[in-house]
Amino acid sequence: MNKFLGYRCLKCKTEYPFTQNLYTCPKDGSNLEIIIDTATIRRKYEISDIVSRNEESLWRYLPLLPVKDPGGEGTPLHMTGWTPLYSPPALRQALGLKSLWIKDEGRNPTGSFKDRASAIVIARGIEIKAEVLVTASTGNAGAALAGLSAAVAQKAVIFAPKTAPPAKIAQLLIYGSQVILVNGNYDSAFDLSVEAANQFGWYSRNTGYNPFTAEGKKTAAFEIWEQVILKENTSHKPLIVFVSVGDGNIISGIHKGFQDLLALGWLEQMPRLFGVQAEGSSAIANAYFNHSDVIVPVKADTIADSISVDLPRDGDRALHAVIDSKGTFLKVSDQMILDAIVSLGNAGIFSEPAGAAAYAGLTQAIEQGKVNADDPVVVINTGNGLKDVRAAMKAVAPAPVIEPTMLSLRELLNK
Ligand SMILES: *Cc1c(COP(=O)(O)O)cnc(C)c1O
Ligand SMILES: [Zn+2]
Repeated sequence: MNKFLGYRCLKCKTEYPFTQNLYTCPKDGSNLEIIIDTATIRRKYEISDIVSRNEESLWRYLPLLPVKDPGGEGTPLHMTGWTPLYSPPALRQALGLKSLWIKDEGRNPTGSFKDRASAIVIARGIEIKAEVLVTASTGNAGAALAGLSAAVAQKAVIFAPKTAPPAKIAQLLIYGSQVILVNGNYDSAFDLSVEAANQFGWYSRNTGYNPFTAEGKKTAAFEIWEQVILKENTSHKPLIVFVSVGDGNIISGIHKGFQDLLALGWLEQMPRLFGVQAEGSSAIANAYFNHSDVIVPVKADTIADSISVDLPRDGDRALHAVIDSKGTFLKVSDQMILDAIVSLGNAGIFSEPAGAAAYAGLTQAIEQGKVNADDPVVVINTGNGLKDVRAAMKAVAPAPVIEPTMLSLRELLNK
């Protein structure tokens, strides 16, 4: 069975057959969406065929994915996804919410949500016999491509801004990919990587460029569907899902996942998607609040490096995802992000700034009356706190240093 029918341009709606290997629309350069053969899937599968599989990774959804099984059993490529879902009583109480879940994407093999996209793009790369995979990245997409490629001995080239957090650069190097640091920002690394891919015939994983990334990211929607919507009784109100937004590919992918489930008749109502941007990197949220469909680039400046983007590469689709799902956007300050890192940390969940941004968005939405006590809420923590300890240390006071004596200890404790 063909796993997908073709591509559809998000702008001019032209459809292209699956036999072509496309990144963007040949007519207008816009992003493409993968058309899944939902009619065939619907005929061949029922919900129980999916949820009864004992594959505890995103590959449990293989029938709904546009790639073949890439192999790689026993490697991190086969351990991506199926991330844990927490419901910390302390956070529920602090926020006054009856139903709150945190989905911890920091538990993916390389520590971020990006593993989902990289896994699917690598599967695609294997299928089309790509020799070299390449991506530009603020760090996480690169680490994901480098780590999961290493797992199955695929060659990877990663372009990242030289200012990326050291832990992310260390990951790239340790995974053995070819790492090229660019004296510029993410946007300049992006442009260079696309040019290099075109000239050298490399297969590009770039976010908001390769249409298969959203197909990986949609698997988080499938897991939320299975772990929350099917299991917990949330049908009294639509589920609200908080997602941090940089390029806008995660929120677009999650929207696509829920749309696939609606098309299959496996989901009753679209969850509401609340996109959270940093105040200093809010090009998509700005368009939303200006009721405009034109996304004007900004000069991005935020502590949350993973969502620091001048020109969002999947902005149109992200805007559509929020509007179509009757969600909203939120803009949070760096201080709110740091506070959120501490709140999550005190519940045992260590998040990087971009991951905590989603939680900061939730606290703001509650303050603004956009979320009520009986709304069921999922917050996605998109990245592990160990990715950026420099930022984490800004959120807390330094630990005291004492002499190794009981006297000094008593003095300190009595203070
Ligand atoms: C990439 C990333 C995001 C944002 O995803 P986009 O697709 O760029 O919107 C959020 N959090 C983390 C940790 C990321 O790595
Ligand atoms: Zn087009």
